[in-house]
Amino acid sequence: MAKKTVRDVDVKEKRVLVRVDFNVPLKEGRVTDDSRIRAALPTIQYLREQGARVILMSHLGRPKDAPDPAFSLDPVAMRLGQLLRTPVRKVNGLSGPGVEAAVASMGPGDVLLLENSRFDPREKKNDPTLVRELAGLGDLYVNDAFSAAHRAHATTAGLAQVLPSVAGFQMAREIASLENLMAQPKRPFVVLLGGAKVTDKIKVIERFLDLADQLLIGGAMSFAFFKAKGLSVGDSKVEEEGVGEAAEALQKAADVTCELVLPTDLVVADRFAEDAATSVVAVDAIPDGWMGLDIGPATAERYAQAIAAAGQVFWNGPMGVFEMGPFAAGTRAVAEAMAACPGVTVVGGGDSVAAVNKFEVADRMDHVSMGGGASIEYIEGAELPGVVTLPDEEPA
Ligand code: ADP
Ligand code: MG
Repeated sequence: MAKKTVRDVDVKEKRVLVRVDFNVPLKEGRVTDDSRIRAALPTIQYLREQGARVILMSHLGRPKDAPDPAFSLDPVAMRLGQLLRTPVRKVNGLSGPGVEAAVASMGPGDVLLLENSRFDPREKKNDPTLVRELAGLGDLYVNDAFSAAHRAHATTAGLAQVLPSVAGFQMAREIASLENLMAQPKRPFVVLLGGAKVTDKIKVIERFLDLADQLLIGGAMSFAFFKAKGLSVGDSKVEEEGVGEAAEALQKAADVTCELVLPTDLVVADRFAEDAATSVVAVDAIPDGWMGLDIGPATAERYAQAIAAAGQVFWNGPMGVFEMGPFAAGTRAVAEAMAACPGVTVVGGGDSVAAVNKFEVADRMDHVSMGGGASIEYIEGAELPGVVTLPDEEPA
């Protein structure tokens, strides 16, 4: 069900509290990747154009429930100001007299950024006193942080219960893309899952075994499956706790129409290093002391063909250690196949999104989810606190 958005309410002159996700990487006081800030611009610009007073809230990193200059949003305010071409005032607190005074001095179209919400220990507890203090700063709450929506915090869920609330454009887009994917799949529905751990993604695997036509596995996750099948994985990164779950998934796959596909060949290396000796081997021929760091060329070709024929594709998790040149080919091949695929293509997950950016194909995907953990939980069928608290769109 689509959510009511900023377009459905009158925001003129209102003080609008907007939860954004400005959890961006920093280095030496600078933002090194501003994609998340850019993702919030359409909502911020729209609100400014409509004459709202825009009060932004975000977390950044994992400060220990107290102010920590290393996690200050100052560099974010600077970058946001450049992108908006307007000064963005940043206050040092999240609530209290100083913040109230700053809000009182705002005019229509002004943008104010509150300090890192996780500097306040009450944020993660969704503490009603913090919710009340924040609510006093605004007339309307907008949630545009889908990627934080799996957390029931004061700024992600609590505020929606005390103020009139709507979704921002990024939030609405994330929900619509995932809902379209899951509710009415265009066939064949091909799902590509890779990355580090099976245990992170076992529920996703099970959900897709019920829903997809082909589930293609890659990345370190494959080794739990190989081990479950009794193959030797050498020194490959294998998650012991995941082997039982992989065995269960293999068993389930035997009973459903969805085809569970594992790699047939691998790029193996004698060390975990850029300059390691490498070789391409069949999955049942990993030499002792060697480790699989990418899917092999035959597997990459097979996966690319499945993607090319797909009605829709969802991809989460790199096929190999794409951060290192010699082990990037598998991930690059599937990224390029998705870019060329005429069907609907959706990519989600922190490292997967980094991969499509690295291979410069992000703008050729239908949707690149900033969601990470939130998109995974949504796909698993969980109710996200930041989503369920927002009102649905009224029927036309
Ligand atoms: P995402 O963030 O997209 O959900 P994950 O965090 O699950 O993805 O996994 C990404 C990480 O998995 C990458 O850092 C990548 O290097 C690593 N990885 C992928 N394949 C392998 C492999 N065969 N061996 C070791 N690490 C791997
Ligand atoms: Mg990751």
